[in-house]
Amino acid sequence: MPIADTFYQRLTASLPTLVERFGTPFHLYDEAGILQTGRRLNRQFGDIPGFREYFAIKALPNLRILDLLHRELGFGFDCSSIPELEMARRVGARGDDIMFTSNNTSQAEFAAALADGGAILNLDDASFVEKVPALPKRICFRFNPGEGTGTTVLGTPREAKFGLRRDQLESAFRRARERGAQHFGLHMMLVTNALDWRVLHGSLQMLLDTAGALVDRLGISLEFVNMGGGIGIPYRPGEAAFDLDCFAAAVRESLDAFTARHGQRPGLLMECGRAITGPHGIMIAQVINVMSKYRNFVGVDASMSALMRPGMYPHAYNHVTVLDRDGVARSGPPVLVDVVGSVCENNDKFAEQIALPAPQEGDYLLFHDTGAHGHAMGFQYNGRLRPQELLLRENGTVERIRRAETLDDYLATQMHG
Ligand SMILES: *Cc1c(COP(=O)(O)O)cnc(C)c1O
Repeated sequence: MPIADTFYQRLTASLPTLVERFGTPFHLYDEAGILQTGRRLNRQFGDIPGFREYFAIKALPNLRILDLLHRELGFGFDCSSIPELEMARRVGARGDDIMFTSNNTSQAEFAAALADGGAILNLDDASFVEKVPALPKRICFRFNPGEGTGTTVLGTPREAKFGLRRDQLESAFRRARERGAQHFGLHMMLVTNALDWRVLHGSLQMLLDTAGALVDRLGISLEFVNMGGGIGIPYRPGEAAFDLDCFAAAVRESLDAFTARHGQRPGLLMECGRAITGPHGIMIAQVINVMSKYRNFVGVDASMSALMRPGMYPHAYNHVTVLDRDGVARSGPPVLVDVVGSVCENNDKFAEQIALPAPQEGDYLLFHDTGAHGHAMGFQYNGRLRPQELLLRENGTVERIRRAETLDDYLATQMHG
């Protein structure tokens, strides 16, 4: 979806200066937008006792952004690897600020999660209760109901590698209690990028039903349920935004019903990534070739190594705006084009058969909604290196928060001569 007007205006007004100072391509994130969205989430759910958002680091693993989310919004972090744990700790997160939702976890990862102030362990398999070296007092399990919608990314539940089967939960909780656990949580995440709040609410209800049955059978007190991430953003123009008001109201009702039925009230944790930063990031690349083959192609100075979603997922879409050198949106009759990078793979396309006002060489293309799972998914295939990241501050200044990779970075891990 076209980015917020205020962001668009501030960005395009300074585009010539930005390009002169930093060059292209770059991802740029809007501090004001991220803070606004984060505050809205906190406000919507703030009256639910024990509510906390654990930002999924994988969506935008940049220390400057993580620092902002932790310091300004009080977010914790959802980590699944040692580098992600390290990033969370570098911005001051400790202990309960960190949810370690890993899968196929190694002993080294358990050790790292428990070191340095620890983390909340979210165990992804029944066998892990025995494998954690010293089970902490607080423990969470990831539940996979084996039914429900699912997505291509997370897999249909019965085929997905994540989580414990329903029939494994009770014995896992019992075993955790025998090993000293006293505080419990239950996690479930089936979908990502849901635009219909009912889908996420249905999934949370299923999580609460399962949690309720466990509470009754085991007599444990459930400290929290963790619904994971999954709140979607409208990537396509015309798509309706996720209705956070309706969702929050329904969530509150479900938690009230749980309290009435089971005599206790678990806190609510979320691990949203996309919804927090997605709409507040863009990528700018310059058109270097306008080419006519069997189709019209517009080639830019970035490749899918800088933004993989559209090339990787069949239905993924990132909206594109054509800007001239002054940062003014081009108008004029649309032409059908494929927007491409330089990787020697034909899925290196940012957009396919998209109607754009004829882009000229030297123009800039603005790719919308790259603030989550954008730069983060980048890779180096074909020697196409990852671009820089910039932060547009609330006060209007721009900081470089990650430099572009260089040839030296690319060669740094190789041994020769
Ligand atoms: C990817 C992921 C998230 C974030 O998902 P979004 O769709 O970006 O909100 C949260 N939790 C877990 C366990 C994940 O794998």
